[in-house]
Amino acid sequence: FVSTAITMKGTLSEKQEEPTLSQADLKKQSIQEVRRSLPIFPFREDLLRAITQHQILVIEGETGSGKTTQIPQYLMEDVRLHSRRNEIGCTQPRRVAAMSVAARVAEETGVKLGNEVGYSIRFEDCTSERTVLKYMTDGMLLREFLTEPDLASYSVVIIDEAHERTLHTDILFGLIKDIARFRSDLKVLVASATLDTERFSCFFDDAPVFRIPGRRFPVDIFYTKAPEADYLEACVVSVLQIHVTQAPGDCLVFLTGQEEIEACCEMLQERCRRLGSKIAELVVLPIYANLPSDMQAKIFSPTPPGARKVVVATNIAETSLTIDGIIYVIDPGFCKQKSYNARTGMESLIVTPCSRASANQRAGRAGRVAAGKCFRLYTAWAFKHEMEETTIPEIQRTNLGNVVLLLKSLGINDLIHFDFMDPPPHETLVLALEQLYALGALNHLGELTKMGRRMAELPVDPMLSKMILASEQYKCSEEVLTIAAMLSVNNSIFYRPKDKVVHADNARMNFTVPGGDHLVLLNVYNQWVESGFSTQWCYENFIQFRSMRRARDVRDQLEGLMERIEVEVVSSLEDSVPIRKAITAGYFYHTARLSKGGYKTVKHQQTVYVHPNSSLFEEQPRWLIYHELVFTTKEFMRQVIEIDSGWLLEVAPHYYKSKELEDSSSKKMPRKQGKTKDELG
Ligand code: ADP
Ligand code: MG
Repeated sequence: FVSTAITMKGTLSEKQEEPTLSQADLKKQSIQEVRRSLPIFPFREDLLRAITQHQILVIEGETGSGKTTQIPQYLMEDVRLHSRRNEIGCTQPRRVAAMSVAARVAEETGVKLGNEVGYSIRFEDCTSERTVLKYMTDGMLLREFLTEPDLASYSVVIIDEAHERTLHTDILFGLIKDIARFRSDLKVLVASATLDTERFSCFFDDAPVFRIPGRRFPVDIFYTKAPEADYLEACVVSVLQIHVTQAPGDCLVFLTGQEEIEACCEMLQERCRRLGSKIAELVVLPIYANLPSDMQAKIFSPTPPGARKVVVATNIAETSLTIDGIIYVIDPGFCKQKSYNARTGMESLIVTPCSRASANQRAGRAGRVAAGKCFRLYTAWAFKHEMEETTIPEIQRTNLGNVVLLLKSLGINDLIHFDFMDPPPHETLVLALEQLYALGALNHLGELTKMGRRMAELPVDPMLSKMILASEQYKCSEEVLTIAAMLSVNNSIFYRPKDKVVHADNARMNFTVPGGDHLVLLNVYNQWVESGFSTQWCYENFIQFRSMRRARDVRDQLEGLMERIEVEVVSSLEDSVPIRKAITAGYFYHTARLSKGGYKTVKHQQTVYVHPNSSLFEEQPRWLIYHELVFTTKEFMRQVIEIDSGWLLEVAPHYYKSKELEDSSSKKMPRKQGKTKDELG
C-alpha cells in the first residue's frame, strides 16, 4: 500500500505519466522519496558519524521524524557500522509498534517480512537466519539476556521510545550500560521523543545527545467550558462536529482501551448510518494492542477522496505510531494505567487522567503535516491543576516479581544496588522477594531455587509459571497449558456485538461449567479443538476466531517449552479438582472470601467484587481465586474459580496459617479483621 504522504505530495500522479516505469519501480521510487522527505534525512551523515565516534548516543527527535524506521536502515546501509554477521536490535515498548514498524521497514527495504527485517514479540517470532534487523519488544530483549548475557549476536542495540520509561526499558538501561563496559564493539543508541533527554545522557555517563530538529506546524488547543460527564459520548459528538463543520483532514481520538474504542467506533458508525448521505463518508478505524495485524495496517492506508478518516486509538498513537494526515486530535485526557499497592501487593488497571506531557504529545500529533487543532475534552483548569506534569515511570507503580526473578536468574543478587535510573520503592522490591519466596522460586536466603530457575524459563508472570509447573504434580498439564494460553488472550474470547447481545450472552452461557471461569475457558478451547479449529464454529458460538488462533499459538509455544523444564504433558481425566489446585498453587495470593456485602481478600481484607461477566457472578461461592483485578466503578475480580480453603494449606503452607482460613460463616468476621490489621501494624 502507498502511504498518504505520497499522495499528498502529488508525486505519484507526476510519475504515472512516465510510461517507462513499471508499477513496482514507481512504488520503489516513491518510497525513496518519502524517506528523503523525513526530517531525519538531512542529518543522515552527521548521525552516522556521531554513532561511529561514540559508543553510546542519545537521539532526540520529534515524533514522526523517522527515528524508528530510518536509523536502523541507515545502519544497515553503512558498512562501517554494520557487518552482516551481527544483528541490529531495536526495542519497542509495545507489541503493535514492533510489528507495524517492522512491516513498514521491510516494505521500504523491499524484503519479505521475517527475512532480513523481522520482529520478535512474546509468543511470536517472525525472524529467520537471514534477519539482520530485528524489531522487538523491550521485554523480549530482556529475556535474551538469559540465553546470551553479553548480547554477543548484536552489533547495535537501539532502545527506542525511551521516554515511555516502561519497566522493561528501565531494566534494559541498567543491564546494557553494564555490558557496554566490556563490549566496546557494541553500539548503544537511546532514542526518545523530545522529553527530558538530559536524564538519559546523565544516566549513560554523559553520553552526547544528537538532536533532530522537528518540523511542527502550530496546533490550536481548545478546552471545554465545563467537565464532560461522559467522555465517550463527548468524543463521538466532537468527531461528528468536526466532520460536518471543519475543513478536510483526518482525525485522531485517544481512548484508554479496547472496550472503549470498540464502543466508540460502533457509536460513530451507527450515527453515520442514521445520517446517511447527508454527510460525507467517515472511515472509522480502531487501533489497540490486541487488534489483529491486518486490521492494524488499515490505519495507514490513504483516505479515499472526499472522505475523512478517524482513527480511534489507545496511547499507542501518542508516540509509537505516526499516522500521516492527522489534522484534528480529540483528547479526553485519560489513559489506562497499572497501579500497584505495595502494602497489599494488589495490582490493578485504572483509568486515570493522563499527564500534561502526554496531553502535549497528543496535541502535537495534529501538527505534523499542516496547522492543526486539538480538542481537549476537559477544562483548562483541569489541565493546569488536575494533571501531573509527567507520567510516573512504570517501575514505581508495578509488581516487580517478574523482573526480580529474571535478574536473579542472571545472577544479579544485590537488587538494592542495581543501577536503576529511578529506583523502585523499597517496599515493592521487598514484596517481590517475599512473593517469589512464597511461590518457592527463592529460598530463605533470597537465592534462586531449582523451581525458580524453571519458572524463569517460561515467558510469563511468576504466578502463571508456578501454576504451569504445579500442574505436573497434579497431573493436569494439558488442561493447565490451555488455561494459561486462554488467560493470555484475556477478555477477547467472547464476542458481544451490540445488536446481538442476547444471542451472544446465551451462547456464552452454554459454555458454563461448574467451578469457574478458568474451566469455562478450557471448555471453550476444547470444544473448538473438537470442531477441528473451525471458523464457522466460532462464528456460531460468538467466539472470536482470531483470539482462539492466538491462544492456540501461545499454547503450542508453551508446550514446546515444557520439555526444556521437564514437565510431562498429561491430562487429568474428567475431574476439575487437580486443575483448580494447580491454579491455586500459582495464585494463592489472589484469594478472596465471601463476607457481608461482597468479597474480601484474605490477607489484606480489601473489598473486591466478582465481575458481572463471570460465570460465578450469581453463585457466590465462599472461597474464590481471581486471576486479576480491574478497577472500573469498583475493584472487580476478573476470571475467578471456586476453591476449597483447605487447598491453600496444601499448596502454600508457609504462606497461610489454618487460623486465617477458619470459616467466616461463624460470624466472627469483625474480630478476625481487626486482628489481621493489627498483625500488619
Ligand atoms: P519516529 O520514530 O521518529 O516517531 P517513524 O520512523 O516511526 O518516526 O515514522 C516516520 C514516518 O514513517 C512517518 O511519516 C510515519 O507515518 C511513517 N510510517 C511508519 N510506519 C508506517 C506504516 N506502517 N505505514 C506507513 N507509514 C508508516
Ligand atoms: Mg518511533
